[in-house]
Amino acid sequence: MSKKRLIIIGGGISGLSAGVYGQLSGFETTILEKHHIVGGQCTGWERKGFHIDNCIHWLTGSNPNKCLYKIWERVGALGPGVEMIKNDSLIRIDGKDGNHYHVWRDLKKMKEEMLKLAPEDKDVIEEYIDAIDRYRDVEVFGIPIEQYSLWDYIRLFYKMRRVGKVTKKYSKISIADFREKFKNPLLRRAVDVCMPDHFYAEALFYTYGTFVSSDGDIPKGGSRATALRMQKRFEELGGRTRLNTPVEDIIIDKSTHCATAVKLSNGEEIEADFVIAATDVSVTLRKLLGGSVKDNYFTKRFKDKKNYPIGSHMVIYFGCNCRPENMPDTVAFEEEPITLCNHQIKLIVLKHYMYEESFAPKGKCVMQVMLVQDESDFDFWENLYNNSQEKYKEEKNRVAEAVRINVEKHFPELKGQLETVEILTPYSFHKWTGAYKGSYMSFITTKYIKPEKHHGRVPGIKNIYLAGQWVNPPGGLPNALTSGKFAVQRICKDHKIKFIK
Ligand SMILES: Cc1cc2nc3c(=O)[nH]c(=O)nc-3n(C[C@H](O)[C@H](O)[C@H](O)COP(=O)(O)OP(=O)(O)OC[C@H]3O[C@@H](n4cnc5c(N)ncnc54)[C@H](O)[C@@H]3O)c2cc1C
Repeated sequence: MSKKRLIIIGGGISGLSAGVYGQLSGFETTILEKHHIVGGQCTGWERKGFHIDNCIHWLTGSNPNKCLYKIWERVGALGPGVEMIKNDSLIRIDGKDGNHYHVWRDLKKMKEEMLKLAPEDKDVIEEYIDAIDRYRDVEVFGIPIEQYSLWDYIRLFYKMRRVGKVTKKYSKISIADFREKFKNPLLRRAVDVCMPDHFYAEALFYTYGTFVSSDGDIPKGGSRATALRMQKRFEELGGRTRLNTPVEDIIIDKSTHCATAVKLSNGEEIEADFVIAATDVSVTLRKLLGGSVKDNYFTKRFKDKKNYPIGSHMVIYFGCNCRPENMPDTVAFEEEPITLCNHQIKLIVLKHYMYEESFAPKGKCVMQVMLVQDESDFDFWENLYNNSQEKYKEEKNRVAEAVRINVEKHFPELKGQLETVEILTPYSFHKWTGAYKGSYMSFITTKYIKPEKHHGRVPGIKNIYLAGQWVNPPGGLPNALTSGKFAVQRICKDHKIKFIK
């Protein structure tokens, strides 16, 4: 019997994951990627002698004892040969008065530091540390929810048993609300620097819980190397990757309600038995399906910006002429306010990549600054770009220069050592992967809503499935990974094909 042809549109993490599971389950699988390299947002490139690592700051699923690790391993991203970077602290937050606070891997140390800094906040510190500790055990099983067996539910309840109390208390509290519980100004400022204010507070406990349980480490080689390992695994299994291959359209036979082929931008048509759209959902719905499909889940969410906001970043990379060995991996601080997209920002989050010697010439290192952006900021950059690319560039350079001055003010030892090597805006992400409003994840889980996944199918069409972070909010790499696996699991279940994990 000939193999069923599976076409995957998009070679980001979700598309690569779908590709590996497609091959394992016996499909003849092809990934079509518009870019010259796989990885989507999880990528990297060279600039002025430095490596720009676009994505991984932490990778949930890096603990070999957790279920998610097995999936990362299966797709070739992690495994015994992949060294993991395990920093002692996720971030250091510097206060104005020389005080600072760390998110330590060692929770006991973190608690002691917080109590020393702010004895007046003893009760809330204890509650906070306890909440993070309870999130250590939380697991992502990597099975679509509708395919859970009774045993999976029992496992889920067992794994979640310690967080029930926290969920009950915090499901209607945002990170911004939680911050208000602290009296100490540094702690008040510090708790939310890794995440947008309007995320529900549990997201913070979950993220820090993964870090303290060694489930949020960084694979050596960074984002590009991780994606390339997945491509290698896919191709070793017999899959085919076609790069520089943008898809224009999915051809649908209206009488059978089935996709029959995909059409490339050069006019070529490729026949398919199944299609997985692993593109940003806005690309899938608007471009590939030509706006013809009504999907209530996405319509509601894209309209309701208060309850389903999205987030992005402006990202600036500096080549640094020295290696300031005493600097923490990531540090947040405030110096002079900077005007960014018509508002003032103060908070700067600075990361260095000194643990990756190949990312910079000998004796130097590369540093990254991330500035939080929202949907309206995307509009600012898009309008500027469309009005004048020259002005867009000038504005990017102005902000980067203001940031450089602030970094040098905060770290006087870096004075004269920094050269701007790359500047990305939310519009950059949109141009290159099609990311909706430059979003780096999908819908942010707010306190107003119940987190709910998409069913991963296209209403009214029998053989198109959706993968990608938008199907599994709030997105990020683990959700992109599992969404690719889920798409193949759904095809197998719906069409009575054995799924091989
Ligand atoms: C600056 C930054 C930092 C991040 N840090 C982290 C982190 O530390 N940890 C974490 O978990 N997540 C992080 N993320 C998020 C993570 O990168 C994404 O969640 C994830 O990569 C999304 O994968 P995806 O497959 O869903 O989508 P994408 O990566 O967007 O992949 C979609 C692919 O489809 C391709 N495509 C689009 N249109 C077409 C077409 N017409 N034809 C063919 N191909 C097409 C695109 O080129 C792209 O390769 C970060 C993101 C950014 C931008």
